[in-house]
Amino acid sequence: CPEVCFVGRSNVGKSSIMNKLFNRKNLVKVSSTPGKTSNVNFFVADGVHFVDLPGYGFAQRSKSERERWADLIFDFLDMERSFNLVVSLVDIRHDPSKLDHQMIEFLQEGGYPFVVALTKADKLSRSQQGRQLATIRKQLNVPAEDIFVTSSATGQGIDELKRRIEAACLDEGEDEP
Ligand code: GDP
Repeated sequence: CPEVCFVGRSNVGKSSIMNKLFNRKNLVKVSSTPGKTSNVNFFVADGVHFVDLPGYGFAQRSKSERERWADLIFDFLDMERSFNLVVSLVDIRHDPSKLDHQMIEFLQEGGYPFVVALTKADKLSRSQQGRQLATIRKQLNVPAEDIFVTSSATGQGIDELKRRIEAACLDEGEDEP
């Protein structure tokens, strides 16, 4: 069964983009690990499993707590290596944080198939979007075709990202009987 995983710092717009990509009513929560703040939620929509990892880097949390949080996510990704795609979310308004960098480096070094979705694009003008896209692309060292400029508010980039997710899920389907 194809699996797609969403990661990003808390408040990056993860729930909003998941709901936008897969209408809330199609997104069925199948299970959830216990723990109020560190829980991992599993959803299924159209035969694809979605993993919603806890947001990392809560500003109001201590540094050690933030690092533990990142470890939890890395451990999870390490254990479960069968992802068709990891969608790593970064707020387009800010340069990637240290944890964003760690996350992308982890995905690059581990050879995970991943894309970066820049969120909340509606908060910037088109020319600001272009400038931030270039900066973030360079900082994260991710190819242009793997970065999506998105907005859950206006729907910008959502269809493109959805097609990419669907393509990643089809890749595996071909090997199945
Ligand atoms: P999560 O913590 O990563 O799941 O983030 P949420 O999806 O709950 O969004 C956090 C906040 O950002 C909420 O107030 C959302 O309304 C807002 N938000 C999310 N996506 C967008 C977007 O594309 N545009 C704008 N303007 N606000 C957004």
